[in-house]
Amino acid sequence: MSNITINQHYIPQCILANFCNSKAQIYECLVNREKIYQTHMKNSMMYRYTYEHSFFEVNKIEKWFSRIEDYAGPAIKRIIGLIENHDRGDIGSIQDLLNRYLTTFLVFYYRSGALLLEYSFGRNSREDCILIMTNKIMNSKYLRALSKTIIRYYNFAIIKSSSGNFILSDQYLSTTALSIKNRFFYISNRHMGLKNTMILIPLSKNYYAVYYHGDVPSYIFPNTINVLNDSQVSDINRVIINNAYNKAISYNRDALEDALTHFEYESPSEILAGSDGGPHFGATLKKEMFFYNRDQKAWEIITFANNWKMYDDVGRNDQCPCGSEKKFKKCCLDALEIAGRIIARFAAVQAFPFAMVNMARDAVSINATIELPVEEFYNSQ
Ligand SMILES: [Zn+2]
Repeated sequence: MSNITINQHYIPQCILANFCNSKAQIYECLVNREKIYQTHMKNSMMYRYTYEHSFFEVNKIEKWFSRIEDYAGPAIKRIIGLIENHDRGDIGSIQDLLNRYLTTFLVFYYRSGALLLEYSFGRNSREDCILIMTNKIMNSKYLRALSKTIIRYYNFAIIKSSSGNFILSDQYLSTTALSIKNRFFYISNRHMGLKNTMILIPLSKNYYAVYYHGDVPSYIFPNTINVLNDSQVSDINRVIINNAYNKAISYNRDALEDALTHFEYESPSEILAGSDGGPHFGATLKKEMFFYNRDQKAWEIITFANNWKMYDDVGRNDQCPCGSEKKFKKCCLDALEIAGRIIARFAAVQAFPFAMVNMARDAVSINATIELPVEEFYNSQ
């Protein structure tokens, strides 16, 4: 019992270190309370006995993770070194190294504080979360298949903030939907392995690796190191902070303050789901996060049937009924059309407007990627 680690980090210290100043200090914020304070890396992104479970020997999981960190920490340093010494042109060797550790980075994601929170939703015991986590992480077949799908079907890029302004969320990596697909039950628009998804993997306050499929913002080009200006970094930080469930950290207090003004997505969100037994309430485990405003709006229109009605009989040049004081054609019209197309597509096969994900169309490689969520869905019936 004596050798138990009391404070167990749900984001590894080898990653936190890359966001610290020279005294191992970082700014941390509680996203729901808009509080920002400076703290030591040792006290950040952890809580007491995070990974303890009565089924496992004391400290067992924590030790297991620290063995992973022993090789992942130096690997991330090596990747950063390659980026910093890169001259110009192709970044194939950097991508190769990232690809090699992708499964490890997915493990960091599934063990993160945000995911532990997702697992806890609708469950009474905190210990249950640990079993869900170990099931995910020990299912190496799934993790390898997911990595393979990402490597094969997603584009790759590095993004750089010269002033070290990238923040880090308690979810470790961040994802966002690059296009709205629908409102789903048990899966989200930003699920890894689906089409139109962007995955941001933190390397340091200066660098994120990006894997993406779909319509990425115009300042990100594939196979290169993209140097972002401050407003583009702020755009990316908006995605990262909305991936946070409790906390986000940064080297730079201003970057965190700026990101915090964009924090808006509550989670988990309750939804009404249709099924053979009639409509019932459920919850998505993952909060939705859209890169583009237009998709966020379309999602809200699909979600709240009442919203739909207010657009009846509105002319293109009329004031938009959403209250923005813009013209309809410059405001909600696009989103309304997107929502309309989605509903029409699904209405033929599913009860309006709530539908399961269409696996064949929305997954880039259905067998390789999302069998686990599907399995979870059927196991929960
Ligand atoms: Zn509007």
